[in-house]
Amino acid sequence: MKDKNIKSQIIQENVEEKEKSTRNKGKKAFIITVCVLMSIIILLVAAAVFLDERHVRFYITDELEIEQELGEEFVDPGREAVTVGKIFGESPIHLHVSTEGEVDTENLGSYQLKYTARHMFHDYSVTRTVNVVDTKPPVITLKYKEGYEPNWFTGYEEEGYEAVDRLDGDVTDKVQCEIGDDKIVYTVTDSHGNTATVERKSGYSDTAPHIELLGDAESEIYASAFYEDPGFTATDKQGNDYSGMVQVEGAVVPYKAGDYEVKYFIENPQGKRVEAVRRVKVLPAELPDSVEPDEKTIYLTFDDGPGPYTDQLLDVLAEYNVKATFFVTCLGQKYNDCIGRAYREGHSIGAHTACHNYYTVYASEDAYFDDLEQVQQLIHDQTGEYTSLVRFPGGSSNTVSRFNPGIMTRLSKALTDSGYKYFDWNVSSGDAGETTDTDVVVENVVNGCSGKKTSVVLQHDVKDYSVAAVERIINWGLRNGYTFRALDITSPTSHHGIAN
Ligand code: ZN
Repeated sequence: MKDKNIKSQIIQENVEEKEKSTRNKGKKAFIITVCVLMSIIILLVAAAVFLDERHVRFYITDELEIEQELGEEFVDPGREAVTVGKIFGESPIHLHVSTEGEVDTENLGSYQLKYTARHMFHDYSVTRTVNVVDTKPPVITLKYKEGYEPNWFTGYEEEGYEAVDRLDGDVTDKVQCEIGDDKIVYTVTDSHGNTATVERKSGYSDTAPHIELLGDAESEIYASAFYEDPGFTATDKQGNDYSGMVQVEGAVVPYKAGDYEVKYFIENPQGKRVEAVRRVKVLPAELPDSVEPDEKTIYLTFDDGPGPYTDQLLDVLAEYNVKATFFVTCLGQKYNDCIGRAYREGHSIGAHTACHNYYTVYASEDAYFDDLEQVQQLIHDQTGEYTSLVRFPGGSSNTVSRFNPGIMTRLSKALTDSGYKYFDWNVSSGDAGETTDTDVVVENVVNGCSGKKTSVVLQHDVKDYSVAAVERIINWGLRNGYTFRALDITSPTSHHGIAN
């Protein structure tokens, strides 16, 4: 029994030892497993951190280059930094960001701010550029004079102003003033190109006159010897009449086809104008065709008068009831009345020249028409009419005018466009140098007219020996079946042909 018990005890001990040993073995295995797992995790984390490529990301408010107004407080628009990786993404934790650099807002220039954040022993930076600029224009301050009322006629009287710029200081002398119709505009620009503009209401235009055109502001007329401006009025809002102050610029030349502009204006001391413009188009006149008379005709024409023998000539023409043509000048003032008499007695009055100086008359087209206008005025004074009949000094074929090449070509066109008909002659009496003998004058005219159906005879009523020939010429003509006529706008022109 005792042995049995001992045996049983030993077995029991063996069992316990076995169990103990088994327990120890399990513990070890567990520890090893944990260690292995831990190592794997650490390796995985390390690998993940490495693969994650974690770095710093900056969030910058506003641009990396910004402008800062000079003299104003600088407030950093803001910046944040976080870490971010490929695998684990962005960390919600904001990193500390330090700032290096300063912005001097009192001085123009370019300043750098360097933002730095640290992560894993490494510094990450971003730099922002801040440009301190001046964009503020100067300040213009207007002054006002008490009781001052601007008046257009005397011009605006400046009441005063001041302009100050933060940087440039007093810039009053740089202010530009522009006086408009109802306001004055003041403008000044500082050295950085900042412009200030202010306006002053002036009430200026309230006192300005208004020019009103009478007649059409735009019209078309046919070329003629004379044109009368339809006129204008100038009044202000209060009804005051300033018509007498109106100046006129430009003129219509009625005998010259073309476009004309006439400006009517009043200018105040500051060069401001109120203005009205009239445009007149002068169209080329339509001349009637020349008609050859059916019967044998002699047109006696007398140039260069009136003169001392004109009355005597008119007496002879009256006696025979013969009508002739006088191409007059302004050189026989004492005898100007003869022009009126000739006109009233049924003769034709044509324009020859005012001064009969080739170098004056053919100096230019304007010079020619100026001269023509003078003689037209004389004709108008004497007859109440302007003439459409012209004879060029020296005739249209003259070569004296060659000092001004082409002038006859231009003038003949301008005259025709203007409704004038210019006449030459086909019978010369020779009284202008060839002879001073009345018999020769008669002979020249008679020979010249003989065998011609239509004759335009050139004589000069300032030559006594030529005037003395007229009665004999008339007698010969009448005896031989000629009719004497005065030229008119439809008469044959006997043109020589232009030689210049
Ligand atoms: Zn002449």
